[in-house]
Amino acid sequence: MSCVLIIGAGGVGNVVVKKCAQLPEIFSKIWLASRSLSKCEKIASEVKVPIETAQIDADQAGDVAALIRKTRPELVINVALPYQDLPIMDACLETGVSYLDTANYEPRNEAKFEYKWQWAYHERFERKEIMALLGSGFDPGVTNVFCAYAQKHHFQEIHSVDIVDCNAGEHGHPFATNFNPEINIREITQKGKYWENGQWIEIEPMSICETIDFPEVGPRKAYLLYHEEEESLVKNIKGLKRIRFWMTFGDAYLNHLRVLQNVGMTRIEPVLHEGHWIVPLQFLRSVLPDPGSLGTNYTGKTSIGCIMEGIGKDGKRKKMMIYNVCDHAECYREVQAQAVSYTTGVPAMIGAAMMLTGKWKKAGVFNMEQFDPDPFMDMLNRHGLPWKEMPR
Ligand code: NDP
Repeated sequence: MSCVLIIGAGGVGNVVVKKCAQLPEIFSKIWLASRSLSKCEKIASEVKVPIETAQIDADQAGDVAALIRKTRPELVINVALPYQDLPIMDACLETGVSYLDTANYEPRNEAKFEYKWQWAYHERFERKEIMALLGSGFDPGVTNVFCAYAQKHHFQEIHSVDIVDCNAGEHGHPFATNFNPEINIREITQKGKYWENGQWIEIEPMSICETIDFPEVGPRKAYLLYHEEEESLVKNIKGLKRIRFWMTFGDAYLNHLRVLQNVGMTRIEPVLHEGHWIVPLQFLRSVLPDPGSLGTNYTGKTSIGCIMEGIGKDGKRKKMMIYNVCDHAECYREVQAQAVSYTTGVPAMIGAAMMLTGKWKKAGVFNMEQFDPDPFMDMLNRHGLPWKEMPR
């Protein structure tokens, strides 16, 4: 029986609140706080159990600490934006409360994400005897757990991992992003990167493309991007020689993105507009559809998983895939969200359940693959994200 404080009332926050509310035996009290109180209240009004709400600017560590003192949670679930990771971690340290997020910190003025800023909190969390669980979404998150599960049950050594992410859904808008537009466009327009034979190889954005056959979706064009779980998996998966991340994009999406880039709308440096400094990408975010609003008429599926190759438990070469397929319309029926918010929010709830039930419990800052994958994999099957495995 525990109280949680969820920060961020966007597409993902909506799912986390509704999934936690389904498990009152673990999440006995839920607080939802965000920059706009009205968004918290709207989500709370759609849940059958009482949800407390609060307004917070999570860029201000002192304000977050005050809110933690008022609400007295055992865990803070951060599903605001990556910019807020460090102020919220600071507030957790100050108040001695554990922390969970779904995306690693990135500085506002540089489109670059790395774990170094959050890993630097390890000793301080350890001394305070609290835990931080980083990246408990789908990718990062479930993909890390899939690798840990394969390492535990199927392989002596995993030599290569390809994380493959396909959204084969249709939302009916000419151009929209499935999670926060600012964070999404920063991720896609930066240089790609993969790890091979002990080093990182950088490539021009979207310059490597392959057709990948996705389970229950079929062949799709996927582009090599850099994704944050590669950084921790390289450290934690034994014998790894190569890791890459692939994501599908439709031609219409890429055409829109190219035009927006060419006219300067994806820039993150401020420009002077009629006497005011504005960041073009932040302005673009304001005119694009809210990711939380896309669910209404969304059809189709996401298909995301890990293809792994190496030496199996029997000493023979082995190649296999572990994956989940999620249906946008079914997610909407259950929690009024599209599948990208759903596949992120459900693992955030499960990560929180792992921590609050003591199944995953250590002092310090950790990534998902550093814990026993079995109880997490079991909850995925029981809470909306069943997974399958197959030879590849
Ligand atoms: P949204 O933009 O829909 O929601 C973000 C929410 O954070 C908004 O409600 C916003 O409030 C709130 N917020 C922003 N700044 C602040 C602040 N300073 N203080 C308090 N609240 C703030 O994004 P998503 O829900 O789509 O994404 C949420 C997170 O999940 C992101 O970090 C994203 O990177 C991550 N993610 C992770 C994935 C994974 O698989 N690991 C996949 C998809 C997303 P308001 O609306 O009031 O401005």
